[in-house]
Amino acid sequence: MQPETERRPLLAAAAGVALGGLGIVGASDRANAETSEDSFTILEGTEYETTGTVRTADADGPTVLVVGGLHGNEVAGYEAAASVSDMDIVRGRLVTVPRANVTAIESGSRIGDDGTDLNRQFPTGEEPTTELARAIWGVLERFEPDVVIDLHESRNLYDGDVEDGVGQAIFHSRDAEAEREAEEAADQLNENHVSDSAYDFTVAPFSLPPSETPNMLVHKAARDTDAVAFLAETVSSEPELSTRIRWHRRIVRSLLWEELLDESAIDDGDDEDGDEGEDGDDGDEEDGSDGEDDGADNEPPEAVIGTDPADAEDVDFSEGDTVVLDASASSDPDGEIVRYEWDVDGTDEFEEGGETVEASLSYCGELSMALRVTDDDGATATEEVVISTE
Ligand SMILES: [Zn+2]
Repeated sequence: MQPETERRPLLAAAAGVALGGLGIVGASDRANAETSEDSFTILEGTEYETTGTVRTADADGPTVLVVGGLHGNEVAGYEAAASVSDMDIVRGRLVTVPRANVTAIESGSRIGDDGTDLNRQFPTGEEPTTELARAIWGVLERFEPDVVIDLHESRNLYDGDVEDGVGQAIFHSRDAEAEREAEEAADQLNENHVSDSAYDFTVAPFSLPPSETPNMLVHKAARDTDAVAFLAETVSSEPELSTRIRWHRRIVRSLLWEELLDESAIDDGDDEDGDEGEDGDDGDEEDGSDGEDDGADNEPPEAVIGTDPADAEDVDFSEGDTVVLDASASSDPDGEIVRYEWDVDGTDEFEEGGETVEASLSYCGELSMALRVTDDDGATATEEVVISTE
């Protein structure tokens, strides 16, 4: 997707629905952070009141909306949506509405207090059919996302018929970009993070009338706004919740990679976004390989994290344990890796160097540790592992 100038938010036009103001909660206090954080509230003062977040990077780029909790019993979806809300994006804007249907979440049920299935209230070309659906749609009207990602769970695995279950699948809008990104996300996940192939993720385009499930949010987003849209489903019957949340997080990271996380997209010299040269800190192009557009022919490296103990994402660590992270399996198809950098404390800053690092687990919970490798042409790739400490 081309970088584009950030669109000016439109106020929600849905009849009778006022979005809460964008409360600025303050820029991040990290020294070199270049993102700002805002929040907003919809249906304030009602039982449906819910909060969304907005992260805006310094560099212009697309807007991505991540929604969770349209169905209140699909826990991994809304937990993952909440957990990506503070992702350290390098450009563009990340909007999340993690708990779309609060009354459904509170009762642990698919539908909320208004007795309707929220994800059946978004008819294409028409106004959404409930107050809550109109308020959710108002978020799309306000932020005009280029990409919409909606996170769900299903009891059963998808085998080609949505009636039987849609677990472990990434559904995408019917455009080539969405199909490619969905397939890349599924491939990455299946290769690296799904140990039992029975749970491999499948990829399928949104179905079409009359066989489609009607009036879903992502269908309306794709058809009424031209957004690239995805609906991801994990299966809730067997894998542990923490595993399902990790899967969703990885899907989101992968789907929005090009839009919000790919640093090479910022000073790409493409002339199309017209903002290069602004920051003047591009030190990557002094290797003297003149005559060619740097990066045009360079294959990016691949970042791979090995761990000791092995399969550390599946290990329940105790406080005080250590884990060794090993980047030696990383590679560059047309050159070599010249730099290894690590974020082992979940701050999204790469504070350690070296091919291997040892991290001590000093506090409990889930911690995302990331590796960034740089190849001899200055292209980078990142990978992360999520370590659980009890
Ligand atoms: Zn659902």
